[in-house]
Amino acid sequence: MTQLALVIDLNVCVGCHACVTSCKQWNTSGSAGYLSDMDPYGADPNGTFFNRVQTFEVGEFPNTQTVHFPKSCLHCEDPPCVPVCPTGASYKRAEDGIVLVDYDKCIGCKYCTWACPYGVREFDEQRKVMTKCTLCVDRVTSTVLPEPERKPACVLACPANARLFGDVHDPDSEVSRAILERGGYPLMPEWGTKPSNHYLPRRKTELHIHPEDLERHDNPLKIDGQLPGSYPGAGREDYAT
Ligand code: SF4
Ligand code: SF4
Repeated sequence: MTQLALVIDLNVCVGCHACVTSCKQWNTSGSAGYLSDMDPYGADPNGTFFNRVQTFEVGEFPNTQTVHFPKSCLHCEDPPCVPVCPTGASYKRAEDGIVLVDYDKCIGCKYCTWACPYGVREFDEQRKVMTKCTLCVDRVTSTVLPEPERKPACVLACPANARLFGDVHDPDSEVSRAILERGGYPLMPEWGTKPSNHYLPRRKTELHIHPEDLERHDNPLKIDGQLPGSYPGAGREDYAT
């Protein structure tokens, strides 16, 4: 069975939120929308977002790191949000494994929010229905969009190519190869939900700084009338290994 999913590379995500805004733009104007915003510029803003980026500081000073962590519905293979739904509004598609909500059947009881261990369901306070990431099902199954655009909006928008999309059950797919070769892992597997989305871990990067490079010799602010030229160390490849 096909299982579509996202694979997110935490090593290159820079937390720019392009995925968040492209998701919001596409889905608020498409079949899953609109995605309400309440008091967006006020003291207590609240809104519906299918994809959010959480940013953490990890480690202890001075050895700290900033980690950007994008999170949306993980399209679990065994999703606990589905069987708890009393109306059948939450369901998992047999053909591609995408987990969706049928707004016409949803009564807004929020049982699914309690059942999901990842906190990714988004109750729309204006429409009073449960929403969440659809993996841009309307894009990826489109017969109208050009083939290269049949991907989730977040994948197309990411400037760092941190987001991959494909069938995690196909061992030859780009996502399966990335998981295998780069140690991709599911989020909190101990819950037994078998999340389809995976994360690629951050990698240690060692910096080698050359003392002579701490001063820029080509600083244009100091060299009147001259354009920046090449500087000692330009092109050196041992800055980061
Ligand atoms: Fe359901 Fe949560 Fe899994 Fe998405 S991440 S399929 S909402 S349990
Ligand atoms: Fe089902 Fe809607 Fe209730 Fe969630 S909030 S359990 S989708 S009826």
